[in-house]
Amino acid sequence: MLYSLIHDFESELQQWLPASLASLQQSPVVQSLPDPLFAQHQVAVDALRCDLLHPVISGNKWFKLKYNLVSARRQGLDRVASFGGAWSNHLHALAYCARELRLQSLGFVRGEELDADANVMLQDVQRWGMELQFLSRQQYRLKQVQTDAHTLLIPEGGDNRLGVIGSMTMVPLSLAVQYDVIVLPWGTGCTALGVRLAAPRRTAVWAVSALKGAWLQGELARRLQEWPELANAPIELLGEYHHGGYGNVSEVLLSFIREFGDNNALPLDPVYSGKAMWGLCDRIRHHALPAGSRVLFVHTGGLQGTRGFQS
Ligand SMILES: *Cc1c(COP(=O)(O)O)cnc(C)c1O
Repeated sequence: MLYSLIHDFESELQQWLPASLASLQQSPVVQSLPDPLFAQHQVAVDALRCDLLHPVISGNKWFKLKYNLVSARRQGLDRVASFGGAWSNHLHALAYCARELRLQSLGFVRGEELDADANVMLQDVQRWGMELQFLSRQQYRLKQVQTDAHTLLIPEGGDNRLGVIGSMTMVPLSLAVQYDVIVLPWGTGCTALGVRLAAPRRTAVWAVSALKGAWLQGELARRLQEWPELANAPIELLGEYHHGGYGNVSEVLLSFIREFGDNNALPLDPVYSGKAMWGLCDRIRHHALPAGSRVLFVHTGGLQGTRGFQS
C-alpha cells in the first residue's frame, strides 16, 4: 500500500526533477568509521552520508519534502509555504527546491525582531526568491497563518504523512537488513518514523533527541499509534543526549565533534548529528551493544545550520 504510493511519487519525480536536483535521488555513500571506541568494543559502525547528496540541500529535508512538492504539483498549486526558525534547514531546503522546480515560496520565520538580512541562511532563501514573513513567538506557536488558494502549506520541518512516507526511502530495505541497529537524530520524529517503517523488524531503531523534555516519550507513543504498520516495531528514543535542549551546545559536545570528525573524516553538526553520534558513543561505552554488532548511523545533514554557531 505505502510502497505503491512511493512508486507513483517516484516515477512522477523522475519526470519532473531538473538536473540541479537529480543527485538527491541517488543512493548515499556508506562510509565505515574507524573510531578506536568502535574497534575496542568490536562494533562495526557505518555512516550513511545523506549529508553529501546535494551541495545545498541538507540530508533528510529532501526526503520529507519531495512528496509534498509532488503533491503541490498534482493539485496544480504554484506556491509552497512553511515555517522555521532563523537557521532552519527546512526553509533553506524548501526555498532552494522551490526555485529549481519553478514554484513560488513563502517562509514564516520565528522572530518578529529579525529581517531578511539577519543572517546568511535568511539571505540565501531570499536570494532564491522566498518571500519571508516574520512572526512573533506567540504567532509562531499558533501557526494560524493566512495563505491563498494556490499555496500548499507544509507543516514545520516537513512533518506530515507525506514527509514520513518520503523518509521511508532514506534507508532502503536492502541496506537496512545488513544492520542490527540504525541510529539517527530525532527532531519532530518524522524521519525516524519513516526509517522505522522501511526497516525490517529485527533491526532496532535508536533515535537520539535533539530536544529536552519529559513529554518526548508520550509524543513518541502517540506518533507510533498513527501508524498501525508499526505495532511491535518500536523506536528507542534516547532522551538524555540533548546537551541542554534544542539548539543548545556545550563545550564538551563541540570538542567531541571536532575530535570525532578528525578521527573518522566525518563532519557533524552540533544541533542534530553531533548529539546523535555522542549518544551512540555513550551507549557503546556503556556496553549496550554486544561484540559483532553492526550499526548504521544516518547522517541527516545539518551542516548549513552550523554557520549559525560559527558567527
Ligand atoms: C531537521 C533535521 C533533523 C530532524 O528530523 P525530524 O524528521 O524532524 O526528526 C535531523 N537532522 C538534521 C540535520 C536536520 O536538519
